Amino acid sequence: MPVLFIGHGSPMNAIEGNEFVSGWKKIAAKFPKPASVLCISAHWQSRGTQVTAMENPKTIHDFYGFPPELYEAKYPAPGNPSLAKRILGIVKSTKVGQDMSWGLDHGAWSVLSRMYPKADVPVIQLSLDATLEPAGHLRIGTELKGLRDEGVLILGSGNIVHNLMQMRLDSPPYPWTVDFDSKVKTTLDKGDFPRLANYQSFQSARFAVPTNEHYLPLLYAAGASDGEKPVYFNEAYSYSSLSMRCVAFGI
Ligand code: ZN
Repeated sequence: MPVLFIGHGSPMNAIEGNEFVSGWKKIAAKFPKPASVLCISAHWQSRGTQVTAMENPKTIHDFYGFPPELYEAKYPAPGNPSLAKRILGIVKSTKVGQDMSWGLDHGAWSVLSRMYPKADVPVIQLSLDATLEPAGHLRIGTELKGLRDEGVLILGSGNIVHNLMQMRLDSPPYPWTVDFDSKVKTTLDKGDFPRLANYQSFQSARFAVPTNEHYLPLLYAAGASDGEKPVYFNEAYSYSSLSMRCVAFGI
């Protein structure tokens, strides 16, 4: 299986048609349907790492102020409790707990409902341990790599640049949006993942990554790659302060 990092942007991408959604659909058509998806979403932060272990994860509408149809949207993909249980042994650098209360947040379902609209691929989510340093997230990604051989799609969902406070409509991207996004691309091209984890050394990170939950899923995708050259799609900006860049390894 390839590994993906998806820039998910607005929750409206779950129901709207646009260039970003087209990019997600196109990439899904390029490889066989996965046996399962393991999603690392920006929208699930916890103390310690958790994995969803329920049979039927609920659709979580974790956003405010959007139209009713978005709140009515459901993504009834099944879970995969046996895979979730195996993650506890596969991840060795930290203790992973089984979670029975989360479900699928919009970082997962807004993207997956467009890639696999039939909701026929089981999905589990792995949380972001809010107490872990970036290199620790990269390490977990590395430990998950072997799942690719079993047909599991490892999918990080966030945004490389994500600053909601600086969002503006119908304006070009800020210089720091472009700067950080392009530095991350160059670093990915070099395969310099420790540098990717040390993103704070890029000056533009101060504005591009004011909080790192949307950035960290990229480290899981990079960690799970296997020397493959990254392929990019949806190389665009949204609301001046979001990078929609998506990355695929092994496509
Ligand atoms: Zn988000």
